[in-house]
Amino acid sequence: VAGTAVAAVLITTSGCDDGAETAAAAVADRGTVGLAMPTTKSERWIGDGDNMKRQFELLGYRTDMQYADDDIQKQIQQIDDMVEHRVRALIIGAIDGTALKGVLAKAAAADIPVIAYDRLIRDSGDVDFYATFDNYKVGVQQATSIVDALKLKSGGGSYNLELFAGSPDDNNATFFFNGAMSVLKPYLSSGRLKVRSGETKFADVATMRWDAAVAQKRMERLLSSDYRSARVDAILSPYDGISRGILTALEAGGYGSKGRKLPVLTGQDAELDSVKLIAAGKQTETVYKDTRELAKVAVQMTNALLLDEKPMINDTEQYHNGVEVVPTFLLQPVNVDESNYERVLVDGGYYTAAQVAS
Ligand code: BGC
Repeated sequence: VAGTAVAAVLITTSGCDDGAETAAAAVADRGTVGLAMPTTKSERWIGDGDNMKRQFELLGYRTDMQYADDDIQKQIQQIDDMVEHRVRALIIGAIDGTALKGVLAKAAAADIPVIAYDRLIRDSGDVDFYATFDNYKVGVQQATSIVDALKLKSGGGSYNLELFAGSPDDNNATFFFNGAMSVLKPYLSSGRLKVRSGETKFADVATMRWDAAVAQKRMERLLSSDYRSARVDAILSPYDGISRGILTALEAGGYGSKGRKLPVLTGQDAELDSVKLIAAGKQTETVYKDTRELAKVAVQMTNALLLDEKPMINDTEQYHNGVEVVPTFLLQPVNVDESNYERVLVDGGYYTAAQVAS
């Protein structure tokens, strides 16, 4: 009975209206949930953490939320402390998806369920569920925006493309890259797209810790070696922060001024600074992943687990973590560009018009 009541409250929290806040005030103390988040350097993770914290509190849970500044040892220590304090459940946005096996064994020994948040935790049999977006589809959407912007389907010329991928220790990065390559490969094979640097393997184009400065340096290197006398027409970038680093290098290299058009440039996360760049015509697209929705899925999973109910899942195939398939709930990412950013992001309440215009 209690489970039904709590679930009913959760459903009303989606609109964050006052009625839901009032209803939640009556919910009992359900103990503490540990939220281990990777970094505050990127806007999205701040949103993820805040959204989960708020939604858990509405259900009567307290939260212990820690950010680890992209420092793997620090994250392990934070999770270890949460286990010591006997949190009721752990929700983890991993930095290095392969580094948590030991601390998760401790969590399992203490009967603490674990939910991998956004990024799969690998090489451990102690991951109970996974909440994420369809990561392969993210890559498909990014690459499709390149194909569309260059009008590759309707014939015409050939173009120079360079590829960037995310952090090699983040399981998502290969999913994004493989999804994108599934779309780009036919054009690379036919020669319609050419990678002048010759760097086409994931290992060659990965960007450790998703670091914008690392990507900027690599772009500078490519411009001064492979593009001294040629133009780069499109760049596959996996994440908005990386895209901004690439854009800095491009603008310093003379793109975007004196009649030299900026290349097609993708991204991910719909970070505010990048949405402004889309509005200004400097970034072509981003993939929007509503962190309010992902938070809701993770909170619902946790709540169900703690009430001995079955969490909702919709994928039991794609996410093998090296030990087992982790049951997953996949949300759908949304492709955003100049044509729909106002409708999706402003009308959808993710940003205000004033934020985008500021
Ligand atoms: C997330 C992306 C994000 C990237 C960098 C990935 O694991 O899925 O949304 O852009 O990390 O923070």
